[in-house]
Amino acid sequence: MSQLLEKSVHCPFCDAPLTLLVDDSAGTQQYTEDCHVCCQPIDVTIWEDNAGDLSVTVEQE
Ligand SMILES: [Zn+2]
Repeated sequence: MSQLLEKSVHCPFCDAPLTLLVDDSAGTQQYTEDCHVCCQPIDVTIWEDNAGDLSVTVEQE
């Protein structure tokens, strides 16, 4: 059963706190999301670590 998880990150451009909704059944994903505050494109990478937990990395595109 898929579930949406809330992951808290900070914008790599303006450091604003952001909440991302992550589908935990989709595994490793990469997409671009615009920051709600500064409107810069954020590179979002979601990956499963060795323990099976999802981690989120945000980078400047
Ligand atoms: Zn921002």
